[in-house]
Order: sequence, then C-alpha cells, then structure tokens
Amino acid sequence: MQAARLHEYTDEMTDALSIDDVDRPTLEHSDGVLIEVEGAGWCQTDNHIIEGMWEEYVPQELPMTLGHENAGIVAEVGDEVTLVEEGDPVICHPVQSCGICRPCRLGEDMYCENSAFNGLTTDGGFAEYLQTNERAVIPLPEGADPTEIAPHADAGITAYHAAKKAADELNPGDACVVIGIGGLGHIGLQCLDAMTAADIVAVDLKDEALELAADLGASHTVNSGEEDVAGVVADVTDDDGAQQVLDFVGADETTGLAPDVLAAGGDHHVIGYGGHVHEPSQTLVDGEMAFRGTLVGKYAELQELVSLVDRGDVALHTEQYGLDEINTVAERLEHGEIEGRAVVLPS
Ligand SMILES: [Zn+2]
Ligand SMILES: [Zn+2]
Repeated sequence: MQAARLHEYTDEMTDALSIDDVDRPTLEHSDGVLIEVEGAGWCQTDNHIIEGMWEEYVPQELPMTLGHENAGIVAEVGDEVTLVEEGDPVICHPVQSCGICRPCRLGEDMYCENSAFNGLTTDGGFAEYLQTNERAVIPLPEGADPTEIAPHADAGITAYHAAKKAADELNPGDACVVIGIGGLGHIGLQCLDAMTAADIVAVDLKDEALELAADLGASHTVNSGEEDVAGVVADVTDDDGAQQVLDFVGADETTGLAPDVLAAGGDHHVIGYGGHVHEPSQTLVDGEMAFRGTLVGKYAELQELVSLVDRGDVALHTEQYGLDEINTVAERLEHGEIEGRAVVLPS
C-alpha cells in the first residue's frame, strides 16, 4: 500500500514526506483493529513533527507514516474485539491506550503510561490502512461521513477539551475570549456556544475569520491588528475582564494578553503552541490567574464531540486532497493558505 512517510526532519515542506510503497499492516494483537482510511486530517502539528519539534518530547523512530486525525472503515479485527466489526465506520482517537494503568483507570487516556500515538510515535493514517486498537475506535452514528469527520480526531477533540474545561468555569453572563478563529478555533467557538451561556469575544487578525466567528456565535469580534484587545474586553465586561481565554495561537503576543484581559481567578488556556509565556510570577499571584495547557482530549470527550457534530451543533469546513498532494498541503498550511481543515484521502 502507499504511505506518506517522514524520513528526516526538515524545515522544507515542499518535499517533506515521500510516498512509499510499504506492506499493509498485519494485526499484531488480539485487540487490534485495521482501518481502511477514508480521511486523515492535516494538522499544524504535522508541520511541527516534520521540523523535529516533538523529537525531544516523545520517542520517534524514522521513517514513520504521519497522520493522527483518522477515520475510516473497519477492515479487520483481532480475535478479542467486540466493539466493532468489519465494515463499521469509525473515528480513531489518536492514542492507543492500555486500559490498565492508573491514568487509564481514571479515564485520562492522554496520560496513559503504555500508549502509542498514531502519526507521532507509531505509524499514522496518511496511508491506505492504519493499525490501531479497540480502545481507540469510536463507531460513527448513521449518516456520518468518515472523510468529513476525520479532523475531529485531534483538531476537534483538542478544541473540545479546552472548551469543556473553560465551560466548567463559565457562568451565564461571563465573558470568554477566543483568540485565533482558524482550524481549531472555529471548532472551539462552536463548542463553547453549544455548552455555555457566556459572551464570546473572538480575536483574529483577519476580517474573514471574524465574520465566520460572528456567524458561529461570537457576540463581539476584535481585529487585533487594528484594535486594542484589552480595551475592547474591558468595555464589553464593565472592566471586570474575561473569566476564560482560549488561545488557539500560543504566540508570545497572545499569551502576553493574559494579564490585561483576564478577570480575577481566570484561566488562559494555551492550545496553539510555538511561542513562549513570558509573564512575571507576580502576575499569576496578582489576580490569581493561571496558564493551562491542552493536550488532545479523552476518548469520552471525542464521543461527546461526535454527539455535538451529530446534533448539528458543530460544523467543520474541510478541503480535500489526494495522498500525492500531501506536500502541497504541508506547504499551504505553513503559509496559512488552508481554509478550515485539510483532509487527505489516502484510499
Ligand atoms: Zn492534530
Ligand atoms: Zn494506560
């Protein structure tokens, strides 16, 4: 079968991955599930993996097939699998967790002590077939299209996970600032709108992104290239500040907004990454604010997100590409030229 594989880390996206002919995976464990991939979302994290940014955080052996946002049709199951059978449409949580360790017992799939992460620590879905396990697959409701839903496996679940943490802290009438209305941000905004009665203040540099935000439920929009974000948040909240900030950019400029826009006791959730947090420790003490990280999300949260999608509460705009166009996708995302989310169709 064909697979888009990373052989060496590079900053050059034009020929980052090569399309190799590799063997179709054979199931190694009795809980294994083989998926014929119908859609694999391209993610900014794929660009970061190509650049070698994850090498010091996780074990990576190259060459490796990338692709962690996968959905498709079950092609084969191991002897012990009962959740799905051949022919079932599924979305794949990117982490194959063990189910036995304490974090797994607590439902914290991302903290599993014995996990494999498709497209990050083991082969992923930019290939005709993907090997995963029973604990990672979620059967799709009738009528759901695996190609369209694929990016929710990481982009969606990550945005949902952050929005759910923020929603826990948001009372009706509170304000939540959403920074960056791109691939993840526009999902996070819809999740917030579905789960809270907070006023959503959307921040972006592009007017088209802000128009989308207003369509998706933002009560206020701010072009941060032209307006003072802290000033607008102060106006909107009668100088109280926003209880929660969802930062889908994670640049120095956006993490730097936290002390100026947060209400006392508020949280600045860092979802996008690449920049730094440069605040004096006293900033966190004065106003008791927190920066909180976001790492994908739990299996159960992906189930919840699939429900929101099925109810029509969360819609995703996708662009589709063939496997042979994968480096074009990498390059276009690097230059901010993808509208919504790019999905690669490998089969
Ligand atoms: Zn991703
Ligand atoms: Zn585990």
